[in-house]
Amino acid sequence: MGLNLFELKTALEQGHRLTDMEALSLFREAELPDLAVLAADSRLRHNQSKEVTFVIDRNVNFTDICNIHCTFCAFHCAPGDRAGFTLSMDELRLKCQETKRLGGTGILLQGGVNPDLPWSYYLEIVSLIHHEQGLWVHGFSPVEIRAMAQLNGLGIQGTLRALREAGLGSVPGGGAEILVDAIRRTIAPLKGDSQAWLEVMEEAHKIGMKTTGTMMFGINEGLEDRIQHLRVLREQQDRALLRNNGGGYTAFAAWPFQPGNTVWQGRVQTATHADYIRTIAISRIYLDNFNHMQSSWVTMGGRTGQLALHYGCDDMGSLMLEENVVNAAGTHFEFNLEQMNLMIRQAGFKPRQRDNTYGRL
Ligand code: SF4
Repeated sequence: MGLNLFELKTALEQGHRLTDMEALSLFREAELPDLAVLAADSRLRHNQSKEVTFVIDRNVNFTDICNIHCTFCAFHCAPGDRAGFTLSMDELRLKCQETKRLGGTGILLQGGVNPDLPWSYYLEIVSLIHHEQGLWVHGFSPVEIRAMAQLNGLGIQGTLRALREAGLGSVPGGGAEILVDAIRRTIAPLKGDSQAWLEVMEEAHKIGMKTTGTMMFGINEGLEDRIQHLRVLREQQDRALLRNNGGGYTAFAAWPFQPGNTVWQGRVQTATHADYIRTIAISRIYLDNFNHMQSSWVTMGGRTGQLALHYGCDDMGSLMLEENVVNAAGTHFEFNLEQMNLMIRQAGFKPRQRDNTYGRL
């Protein structure tokens, strides 16, 4: 390959930032063992311990009714569809109580963008989970926060402040997919452009909130698009770190699109496990200002989830006590606490439960 890997390894050790051209060369030409070395080096620069962390939380979808109609989404129901649901406060309370009984510390809270819900519903559910039930709320992807801002007239930052006041702890990076407008227009034309997604994250960071970065790949994008996605996240994290106010990305997670039960079934090839490993390793090397990388065992399964730990990941994400979205696309992997611990140990690391902001429990 055009790149001299030894020189690149040395340069990275001395603080060189992977360029887009270098990332493209790694995507096209690097052998997986070479990527393992570079990604493991990068992981060690951020986290020298043998610990691999995970959080116990529950992925609660409070509604599946949604007017955004992403072409890749097998989960949502159109407004007016009688099969759709919205959780009542009592149903939500029960889910929180079960979560606590099972050792969970937080709720990953996401819709649907349900046009029939009032602003007060969002404040109420966040307050119930956090103030009444004492759980961390990692909630609402940017498209949901934008929809709320339209409802309440408070603007993006005002909406985030009000949600934080009600009990919101951090914001998940759902809905990033690929942050390249040409791709977004094809796969989710109503979801907003990349700037719309980035603006919500920027406003959250400005007020000192923590968020996560994500990428869903393998949906008709090119390698250059994946790199552009990583570039805008790295630039945004640079700005967040400069503010030094506690806001910014805690972690990055990437997973391949699951085309089952969507209009894309049969039209795109599901990304291979090797492509996933290559992508997560290059992400680790490129995102030199992100402290943590999550292994996506929920979509890739335990074996590849373990392998990702040798390609730069230091976190297994969530021991999801409930997962609906990936399930709806026909992909189903599930582990209990014992299996999670075993999976991490068998990969040669030490399991450690964490909270939603990466504090050790
Ligand atoms: S991915 Fe989210 S925003 Fe898009 S249709 Fe599904 S529920 Fe709605």
